[in-house]
Amino acid sequence: MKMYNSENIFAKILRKEIPCEKVYEDEVSLFINDINPIAKIHVLGIPKSPCIDYSDFIEKENDKNISAFFNSVEKVLTLLDVKKDGYKIITNSGINGGQEVPHFHIHILAGEKIKL
Ligand code: AMP
Repeated sequence: MKMYNSENIFAKILRKEIPCEKVYEDEVSLFINDINPIAKIHVLGIPKSPCIDYSDFIEKENDKNISAFFNSVEKVLTLLDVKKDGYKIITNSGINGGQEVPHFHIHILAGEKIKL
């Protein structure tokens, strides 16, 4: 079984050890602008619990917080005003998924036609 490494960059952002461009925050989640955006709008949704990827999050986190995270994604989509023209939500896992940061997060891509 993979072990969560609390020295990953999102863990440091969550502990406020390094800065970020915050879009939205509540008790369960933090949403920030991606430092290297691949679309006009590129926001990362990061649950605060120490989970490696989507499956780890679903396995470890309680239903209340899972629900709270996805409800906050919906809130941020409204905040970003992207629901009319559309958006893409992606999450990467492991080597085959090309995951760079081993703390579960989703990418919200919008603001233009996303060619992925
Ligand atoms: P991935 O793990 O492949 O799903 O993607 C990690 C994402 O985190 C990439 O899109 C990076 O550009 C982004 N990223 C890495 N470091 C930072 C940072 N300090 N602040 C914001 N985004 C970051």
